[in-house]
Amino acid sequence: RSTLFPYTTLFRSLELIYLKNNLSEHRYIHSLAVADCARKLARVYSFDEKKAYLAGLIHDCGKGKEKDFLSGKFLYPIKIDKWTQKILPVLHSKLGAVIAKEEFHIDDKDILNAIAYHTTGRFKMSDLECIIYLADMIEPNRTYPRVEILRETATKGLYFATLLAMDFSIQYLMELSEMIHPDTIQARNTLLEKVR
Ligand code: FE
Ligand code: FE
Repeated sequence: RSTLFPYTTLFRSLELIYLKNNLSEHRYIHSLAVADCARKLARVYSFDEKKAYLAGLIHDCGKGKEKDFLSGKFLYPIKIDKWTQKILPVLHSKLGAVIAKEEFHIDDKDILNAIAYHTTGRFKMSDLECIIYLADMIEPNRTYPRVEILRETATKGLYFATLLAMDFSIQYLMELSEMIHPDTIQARNTLLEKVR
């Protein structure tokens, strides 16, 4: 169990170097923490730990590329839905999925979707999508009201915990009168169906 971590780290040196060079120090530390947290959740929920670690590690690899995209300089062709165009904090997740595919040569659809939807969730989220969504919100460096409740809930049911995390984030967006991506509504509805 403890030997898996250094092995995965060595194996994924390409991604580590990319992240170190392209992310802020703060975002790099966050990425390592999400990877570790995702690996722990994978263990709890009998999911592939290496896959969860990798997805967590690179989930924010699109951060900082928003300017390139908005000025037409993003290296790869990509279609962005109209809501993501209006809700800019979502954009890096879509760009990240493309970077993962093109630069890290990741073909695993589940990993690519976990990256693309880590900010919004979506209709019928996979276990990996839930793990990454959750890990992103509860990794140890996160501080916001009620994060402790989420950390305690995280091991008590994957869909239930993801639903609670999503509710917190919807409530937060509503308090700020921010837009909510329709994928988030569909994610919440389908999670509710699963939990009930
Ligand atoms: Fe992100
Ligand atoms: Fe993140």
